[in-house]
Amino acid sequence: MSQKNNEQCASREEYQQLVSQLQRYSHEYYVMDAPSIPDAEYDRLFRKLQAAEEAHPDWTVSDSPSQRVGGDALDVFTQVQHRLPMLSLGNAFDDEELEDFNRRNQERLGLSRDIEYACEPKLDGIAVSLMYRNGVLEQGATRGDGSTGEDITQNVKTIGSIPLRLQGGDVPDVLEVRGEIYMPKEGFARLNQTARDKGEKEFVNPRNAAAGSLRQLDSKITASRPLEMCAYSVGYLEIGNAPELPDNHTDILYKLQEWGFLINAQMQVANNIQGCMAYYKKIADIRDELSYDIDGIVFKVNSSAQQQALGFVSRAPRWAVAYKFPAQEELTVLQDVEFQV
Ligand code: NAD
Repeated sequence: MSQKNNEQCASREEYQQLVSQLQRYSHEYYVMDAPSIPDAEYDRLFRKLQAAEEAHPDWTVSDSPSQRVGGDALDVFTQVQHRLPMLSLGNAFDDEELEDFNRRNQERLGLSRDIEYACEPKLDGIAVSLMYRNGVLEQGATRGDGSTGEDITQNVKTIGSIPLRLQGGDVPDVLEVRGEIYMPKEGFARLNQTARDKGEKEFVNPRNAAAGSLRQLDSKITASRPLEMCAYSVGYLEIGNAPELPDNHTDILYKLQEWGFLINAQMQVANNIQGCMAYYKKIADIRDELSYDIDGIVFKVNSSAQQQALGFVSRAPRWAVAYKFPAQEELTVLQDVEFQV
């Protein structure tokens, strides 16, 4: 089933209503950790918004959800300015859109030969930034709106898979590691079982449980929750006297693994876009057997030099794309959500 959406807004009023509607859903999802509609429905409306803005660029308002990343940082936490913006990812919903992504990359790079891609499951959790100074964890922050996040240092320190000190010598003076904090399916089931036993409110899904667990003012609560962190990139870097980082994404992740981070065991390199499609099908087939929730596959141009040449658009890198899976049991999720709100 494809989620491709060719719906259009019939009028400017309809477009403006759509903006308000999506703003409300974004606030519920990113700020309140309490979504009221399934992600697939949000994605459908978001594509309708993008289609309207493409057809009528003069309608686009500066506070449109298409012009920004995530949601505002809660002011009960100290706010953190990201040294480099934490962006979102562009989406693809079918093979044709994935091929378009590859074609655009080839055109921009002036290449007729294949591009090598790093392939990784798209973990359905919360993006986090971890700042290490001289190898010691100094600060942990949420993505927030991409420029300003929330300081959750005490909470991230309770997560076992986050190194408090980088292993080995030769570490950069300042290193920002980015990754996803998520709740494995088994831990989520146990947490909800405990909530049921106590007659307390259950979490809608593992992402929601991870978000709620991370944004706690009392880090003892975070410590009691089964959270894991998987590293997927390096952000800000002051290399100092340490050796330069490798020149491609996958080897950078292996370096992070040497420093003590968990990286995704399913990560693979594809020599071309056909390899990416084969990888997508392979992971879609084993999705239910994975111990964590994923909502798609992320493909990243592997070469750091090519990434740099491709650069960014306003809310996402040009060199990466999230190929989303079709919605699973959309109605069941909706019903669960309805019980929650
Ligand atoms: P996104 O989830 O489409 O992609 C960006 C995020 O992917 C990154 O910030 C990162 O956290 C994550 N990610 C996971 N694995 C990764 C990997 N291997 N490499 C790089 N990044 C990885 O974008 P978004 O801006 O976080 O969220 C948009 C999505 O959130 C929507 O498509 C929708 O599904 C959902 N949403 C739902 C509602 C709702 O009301 N249900 C509201 C807003 C957003």
